[in-house]
Amino acid sequence: MLVFKTKSLLINYLKSFLDLNKPVGFVPTMGALHDGHLALIKNSSKNNKLTVVSIFVNPTQFNNLEDLEKYPRTLEKDIEKIKNICSNCIIFAPSVDDIYEGKTCAASIEFDGIEFEMEGKHRPGHFDGVGTIVKKLFEIVKPTNAYFGEKDFQQLQIVKKLVLKNKIDVTVVGCPIYREKSGLAMSSRNERLSIESKESAAVIYKTLQIAKEKFGTKSAQEVSLWVINSLNKNKDLKLEYFEIADENTLKTCVRKAKNKKYRAFIAVYIENIRLIDNISLNN
Ligand code: AMP
Repeated sequence: MLVFKTKSLLINYLKSFLDLNKPVGFVPTMGALHDGHLALIKNSSKNNKLTVVSIFVNPTQFNNLEDLEKYPRTLEKDIEKIKNICSNCIIFAPSVDDIYEGKTCAASIEFDGIEFEMEGKHRPGHFDGVGTIVKKLFEIVKPTNAYFGEKDFQQLQIVKKLVLKNKIDVTVVGCPIYREKSGLAMSSRNERLSIESKESAAVIYKTLQIAKEKFGTKSAQEVSLWVINSLNKNKDLKLEYFEIADENTLKTCVRKAKNKKYRAFIAVYIENIRLIDNISLNN
């Protein structure tokens, strides 16, 4: 398994693929890989001649220093996992200095207002960091197709906007959310949860499923109120937000419209670890 630690070595290697117009898939990750990441990698591997998996904990998208410091870093294990499922993958694991060249800061980027909803509201500057790193990585890898999980649905919409606004020649592919048996959305942050908290965290998806069912007959406000009341009674977690929003604009649903697609989004803290999830309300 080839592992590139600098962008110049990677760019040099990719040249022959790009010159011959062979499709290159790209799966950006922050490592501590789980089955959700591996599903993205398999999807890319199947549909492209070569897949680049980046493993880079991007400092500029963290608005909480403790979260950045405690983020799991497991490069050797990650390499092993990719090796086991992919024969046409290569890994890009650069240093912060190689990527940011001494200026570790995010550009201020406009995403037509999507950046101010939900995650943007609660993690100021987060999407500037995401936009900055994804743009940099796209410029380095120049992928044909790039794979992102619906687990971070708002991020997926941000990346689509970034591509559109900057006329970047890449197809962004959204991939479904992978879950534990309990329904808990897989996340690198789950590694930091105790066994008990992991069990309590199953309530997140259960609540989303009930919200979906209720949304069939009730208004967005009624459903939201039910979720907020029921989770506020739960001592194991702290609800940060619950929103029912238009899938495209991510604006809060005030009145349901038949021709629009909606999703419910949630962020909670369990043992001081922040978890997010979402569910489509239309199918
Ligand atoms: P991360 O390493 O958390 O930055 O995630 C890298 C990519 O994997 C992002 O596109 C995520 O949306 C995606 N991803 C993370 N968790 C899951 C999951 N449970 N199911 C599907 N995709 C996921």
